[in-house]
Amino acid sequence: MIRIKISKTLEQKIRLGYPWIFDYQVQNEKIGGKAGDLAVVYDSKNRFLAIGLYDPESKIRLRILKTLNPVAIDSNLFKERFDRAIQLRKFLSLEGTTGYRLINGENDGFPGLVLDRYESTIVLKLYTSAWIPYLDILIRLFKTQLSVERCVLRQSRKLTESKIISKKYSEGQLLFGSKISEPIYFKENGISFVVDVISGQKTGFYLDQRDNRQKIRLLSKGKSVLNVFSYTGAFSVYAFAGGANSVLEIDSNPIALAASRKNIRLYFQNRNFLSEEFDQIKADGFDALSNLGLGKKRYDLVILDPPAFARRKKQTKAALNAYKKLAQAGAKVTKSGGILFTASCSVHVQTDRFYEAVFSGIRSTGRGYKEIGRAGHAKDHPFTFREGEYLKGIFCEIA
Ligand code: SAH
Repeated sequence: MIRIKISKTLEQKIRLGYPWIFDYQVQNEKIGGKAGDLAVVYDSKNRFLAIGLYDPESKIRLRILKTLNPVAIDSNLFKERFDRAIQLRKFLSLEGTTGYRLINGENDGFPGLVLDRYESTIVLKLYTSAWIPYLDILIRLFKTQLSVERCVLRQSRKLTESKIISKKYSEGQLLFGSKISEPIYFKENGISFVVDVISGQKTGFYLDQRDNRQKIRLLSKGKSVLNVFSYTGAFSVYAFAGGANSVLEIDSNPIALAASRKNIRLYFQNRNFLSEEFDQIKADGFDALSNLGLGKKRYDLVILDPPAFARRKKQTKAALNAYKKLAQAGAKVTKSGGILFTASCSVHVQTDRFYEAVFSGIRSTGRGYKEIGRAGHAKDHPFTFREGEYLKGIFCEIA
């Protein structure tokens, strides 16, 4: 088995449950080993500290499976963890939700792996090829513990470019079950959506914003809503479900805008919208917002849910500036007494710094604001370490 040496400082962090060891933190050279090999970390007194999945191609060289007490890494361990993950999400069916995250990676004991469920289709997304040797065990586990029709494999961009990923598996492949011959539907809080699990972003839908969408629904009655970075239109459908008078969407991706139209049609079936009631702008979010700011129209409820602006640590400062600029542009098009909801899914942007950027953006317009709530991920996205807590959102009433 591979042995990994680390510094004493890192040892302490790992002891407290941090799940990653990066390439530059591995102190011994020439380890050899291939993706999916198990590697053990010993502490400075040569006692077992942790065991994890090794990946020589990833900057995260070791993803820890177990800390402090050694256990066998086998199907029993995965079953125990999977059962716990299922249990944690049981309540979701009571609220009318059939699309949710079943395994949230590190936070559910499966580092580098996500499993999303869309009613009877599950989508396994891998962020490391270290899981490839375990896929047979996982497939068996999913088949026995869930009653679903099929399982689709998605891989992170890095993994698709990987040289060593097994030829047996490819992006969008069916791991088991029947071929997709019809659209895949699921429900969130009783509202139906259609999802493209093969080519949609992530696994097809941003499930993490479910609770925030529910809040938007409750705030929408009689309101004019502006939904920027609208993607599959999930916030828009909730707004209409809550009684919004109008929704305007902005997204730069025509495929996203088309997906959103499908979801709106699914909700309203036969309703023909006037453009004052529902419209879309295909444009850069920043440009479109600043154009709207030049005009007269203002909105009761403005939603800004952009893609991650900081994918790397180095981009943190630029990302904070972008969040500030966005909040500024959003506040400008919000009616007096209206609400601005803005969110960040950048791991590298820390929560307090994000809120400070938002406040500073709003203040720069000369308008006052009242904070009316902060929010993170829905409960099917539990987190056990800082990086797991990536989503932060804030609702502000603009004076
Ligand atoms: N709010 C969405 C998720 C947003 S994902 C939801 O609840 O599902 C981010 C979206 O921003 C994607 O649809 C992407 O196409 C869009 N996007 C990325 N960069 C953009 C830009 N510069 N201007 C406008 N849209 C952009």
